[in-house]
Amino acid sequence: MAAVKNALVKTATRPPLRLPPLAGVHDLLRLYRIRALKSFSQNFLLNERITDKFVKSAGKLEGIHVCEVGPGPGSITRSIMRQNPAQLTVIEKDERFLPTLELLRDSCKSSINFNIITGDILKTNLEDVFRGATKCNWDEKPPSVHLIGNLPFSVSTILLIRWLEAMSTKSGAWAYGRTRMTLTFQKEVAERMAAREAEEQRCRLSVMCQNWCKVDHKYNILGKSFIPPPDVDVGVVTLTPLKEPIIKLDFKLIEKLLRNTFNMRQKYSRRSVSTLFPEDLREDLTERIFEMADVDPLIRPYQISNFEFKRLCHAYNELIKEYPHIASYDFRAYKTSQIINTEKITDYKENLL
Ligand code: SAM
Repeated sequence: MAAVKNALVKTATRPPLRLPPLAGVHDLLRLYRIRALKSFSQNFLLNERITDKFVKSAGKLEGIHVCEVGPGPGSITRSIMRQNPAQLTVIEKDERFLPTLELLRDSCKSSINFNIITGDILKTNLEDVFRGATKCNWDEKPPSVHLIGNLPFSVSTILLIRWLEAMSTKSGAWAYGRTRMTLTFQKEVAERMAAREAEEQRCRLSVMCQNWCKVDHKYNILGKSFIPPPDVDVGVVTLTPLKEPIIKLDFKLIEKLLRNTFNMRQKYSRRSVSTLFPEDLREDLTERIFEMADVDPLIRPYQISNFEFKRLCHAYNELIKEYPHIASYDFRAYKTSQIINTEKITDYKENLL
């Protein structure tokens, strides 16, 4: 029976799509006199072996709807096309790539429903992009849609935080279920996303990503593989939304607690967590939050586990019920006004990521 099933699966799998002969990406860049623009964070991957490996790390794309962010001249796009997706939407801000992308679209007209959106990913509603895809329940397997991209460095972390928020409300691409992502980040950012407690790279982004996703930092691509080469290496990361987030509270509350806590990464967490509370309540509520959460106030923020953060967030949520005005208390705004008044900068350092 298993053998029959395997045979059926095998016959259902189409061979990789053979693209008609196309000019190489190098030649197209030369033909259209396209030079990489720093303002669009353009670092191109033109080596087919590298783009094929990147796309394969996304898993099976055959028959599904893939959305590629920032296709540029289209090398990764070609690797995606060879995997036979049913539908491919590319979102590119730089209109100079339109002719090369149109060429790709026309080359696979009969087999792939290929849409080109010239626009800004930060302004794109991904629910519209995937419209028509089947919506899956959150606890089922991921839906037949996938987000992929060698992201522009300039927007990658903003985009990631926005997508995590969309995931938390099951909106945008996550209105369809647990939509998976295969993305590139600066290697250091990829390491932060995956860092566990006590690891050197542990920061706010680690807890945010791991609260909503299974994060796999798959491998790195050397900076010199890109044209032009960036100063850093690049990490390939896959993100699969969890069936249940670790902390099931409002995104903004979690983000605020983490932001405050990680602002003084090397100090006792008691010190940074205390910035959640206005001065008149600070001492009392700092003691209470650690007691309620059963977390040692003398460990450093990067040593706190995801589950200890869960308990801290719940304790903070309880304290907000008791003292509703602390929810809107913003230590940074207070501190900024102090700095402006005294022109003295203290050790309150921005350490967002
Ligand atoms: N995918 C191509 C590759 O790997 O060779 C290009 C990757 S390059 C790092 C990033 C691409 O994203 C560029 O083509 C750039 O024009 C595009 N881009 C930059 N900002 C964007 C934005 N806000 N929305 C959509 N595309 C953007």
